[in-house]
Amino acid sequence: MSRSRFKAGRRKFAGLLIGALVAMSPVFLHAVERLNFRPGFNLFSPAQDVEMGRKASGEVNGQLPLVRGSQVLRYVNNLGKRLAAFAPNPSSGVKYDWTFNVVNSSDINAFALPGGFIYVNRGAIESAQNEAQIAGVIAHEEGHVVMRHGTHQASEIMLAQAPLSILGSLLGQSSGLAGQLARLGIGFGVNSILLRNSRSAESQADEVGTYILYQAGYDPYGMAQFFEIIQKKYPQRTIQFLSDHPNPGNRIRNVDEEIPKLGPKKDWKTDSPEFGAVKRRLQRMPPPPKPAPKK
Ligand SMILES: [Zn+2]
Repeated sequence: MSRSRFKAGRRKFAGLLIGALVAMSPVFLHAVERLNFRPGFNLFSPAQDVEMGRKASGEVNGQLPLVRGSQVLRYVNNLGKRLAAFAPNPSSGVKYDWTFNVVNSSDINAFALPGGFIYVNRGAIESAQNEAQIAGVIAHEEGHVVMRHGTHQASEIMLAQAPLSILGSLLGQSSGLAGQLARLGIGFGVNSILLRNSRSAESQADEVGTYILYQAGYDPYGMAQFFEIIQKKYPQRTIQFLSDHPNPGNRIRNVDEEIPKLGPKKDWKTDSPEFGAVKRRLQRMPPPPKPAPKK
């Protein structure tokens, strides 16, 4: 090794060392923690998230009864898009297709398909006590989207089922993606594995959701409050929500600990007249259709 290359190497090492020390220093820890939203292992490109999500939403829209009232849809889309503007985007450069639908079901539930297709049940809106709480549910779902939990989950299953050489050629040709996934047993409908989140994915969606609420000026406790309400008030009706979004344990305490790290307390928004109007609109609608008995 020449002397100059040795020196350059030493400088590089010194640079790395300083970098490491800066990262460890408590002054910088705060900022690092806030921005540490990293999606997990994923075989898909973010653009494929949008492609798969669009296909899946086409199927879901045919499988679930949707609320058609324009007032309700307009409200949920406006709120959802406003929140999405504050969502961290670690796969920067990707434009998610933020689309929001309301499912005409009294079950308290919500779910997100890859790429930004979010479904909020009528029952979730009706049981939220204020706008910050329903914003929290939507922000949590947006967390699943930007952390790409659906395709992360699909990637892990694919990796377990197919050799990497097959996966390589499969993922190269996006046109046949849906068919190839179907061959691996990965479906797109309402029972898709794209919707089954792990507990660690839940914690991450909670963190991102709380972050979005804070950034958007909403009471960041809204999301955790909503989880608390549904668990206390409707213990028998939370089963579906908790099977799609399993409780990572100490959920409320974790979120409560997260909030002071986001920044100072502000004059947070908790409610709006529009939310009240939408709730009343839903209450005046005919009751949701009875779900078909499970086969
Ligand atoms: Zn979730």
